[in-house]
Amino acid sequence: MKLPVHKYGDPILRKKGALVTEVTPEIHKLIAAMFETMEAHHGVGLAAQQVGHALQLTVIDIRPIEDRPSTLHLNGKPADPNSFMPLVLLNPVVLPVGEPVAGPEGCLSFPKIYGDVERPESVDVTATNEKGEKVSFRAGGLLARCVQHETDHLNGILFIDRMGRETKEELKPDLDDLQAATKAALKKGKK
Ligand code: ZN
Repeated sequence: MKLPVHKYGDPILRKKGALVTEVTPEIHKLIAAMFETMEAHHGVGLAAQQVGHALQLTVIDIRPIEDRPSTLHLNGKPADPNSFMPLVLLNPVVLPVGEPVAGPEGCLSFPKIYGDVERPESVDVTATNEKGEKVSFRAGGLLARCVQHETDHLNGILFIDRMGRETKEELKPDLDDLQAATKAALKKGKK
């Protein structure tokens, strides 16, 4: 089932997600709905907050973007990032590796808004998967960027928080418009 995506200005996006301690049938249902929603919007990552749930749960599939490479290491050995997709991460913990690099980002909660964000080039990730198993891997390139963007969502942090001052100033009129439209829609919905 495709779910509505919550936009910038909705307070749910600022909520830190609760730990997911058990992969219940409800969580499985939510995961399936999140993949369906992400694919419908041609996204490569979606966090639970974006579909209205303050949980430590994100889904990722970088395969639709072919022109921005990713790297993956499993147990210290290089692996094929595509064969590791789709990816479900519960309670992810991300440790930066390497220097920050700038790269373009967008977000399904910010339609038509894009900007450069500096993030560490690679990350070490530990998380639980949809089967309740512990997973750990090192990601680089697009996958590293995506994991960091989504893990930020789970902690109530948005990509605009990580943008440089100039980038954010350039986007400010669009951000203000989006925030106002979201707040107006929420107010109308509550009446
Ligand atoms: Zn996002």
